[in-house]
Amino acid sequence: AERATSPASLFSSADSTQGDTLCLVNIDHPAELAAVPADCAGIGLLRSELLMASGADLANEERQYRLYGEVLRWAGARPVTVRLLDLGGDKALGGFGESERNPFLGLRGIRLLLAHPDLLRVQARALLRASVLGNLKVMLPMVTVHSEIVEAQRIFAEEAQALARRHIEARLPDIGMMVEVPAAALMLDSFTTADFFSLGTNDLAQYLAAAARDNAALSNLYDQTRPALLRLVRQTVSTAQAMGKPISICGDLAGRPDALPALLDCGLRQFSVAPRQLAALKTALHHAKTGS
Ligand code: PEP
Ligand code: MG
Repeated sequence: AERATSPASLFSSADSTQGDTLCLVNIDHPAELAAVPADCAGIGLLRSELLMASGADLANEERQYRLYGEVLRWAGARPVTVRLLDLGGDKALGGFGESERNPFLGLRGIRLLLAHPDLLRVQARALLRASVLGNLKVMLPMVTVHSEIVEAQRIFAEEAQALARRHIEARLPDIGMMVEVPAAALMLDSFTTADFFSLGTNDLAQYLAAAARDNAALSNLYDQTRPALLRLVRQTVSTAQAMGKPISICGDLAGRPDALPALLDCGLRQFSVAPRQLAALKTALHHAKTGS
């Protein structure tokens, strides 16, 4: 496979004013890669639950391996962050995440995966094998307490050993977490074994404001609670910095030019946005940095 140019050289030639800032994209499927601008620094979020066309795909290790491999080959040396299945909440599949009374507060994301470890083990094997094809990072959704990431890391390590015993090529990737539950944001320093963090401000905002993200009648609360969200983001970023761990933002807020000065002021330097927002993000960054 052909290796792509490294992000560092892309930035120095494409736009030197972006300096220490990285702009990545969120995708839901490799079919979107054709529309991703060449000057993106990698995939900051691949929502793997949206790769699954049916419940049967959840158990299909080969299909998952092939799809992750497509993205990794496209990215070359650039990072690709695959988020483990975030089923539950507003996304049900194959009978999983269907019978919750309060779906957003229920068995969702990593909670659901740990309750159904067979799903997690299939995905872990596909990712461990795909990891040798590029610069893969694995991200856990909806983490609330540290024991969840410890348990997921244990399962990844077990599956890596099982693959090694079968002489199947595999590599243990960095394992990090979404920061989208307020308790996790407030206690970030307790997540000592997480390799990196990414702020999921879509969910963080809904849990902070106690306002469902899919209820249009409550959208005014999102604007009114923005200062609370930013205060939490600032605190979270500075804790990550004190821990010496990378932190990025992949929620929709990252793609809002009006929010960018505040996010930069909070210390954020890694942004992951929808492909169609990348150009506007770069323009807004340029303006924020040059003051023009
Ligand atoms: C988020 O919650 O901000 C996020 C990026 O994930 P999703 O929108 O898929 O829940
Ligand atoms: Mg989320």
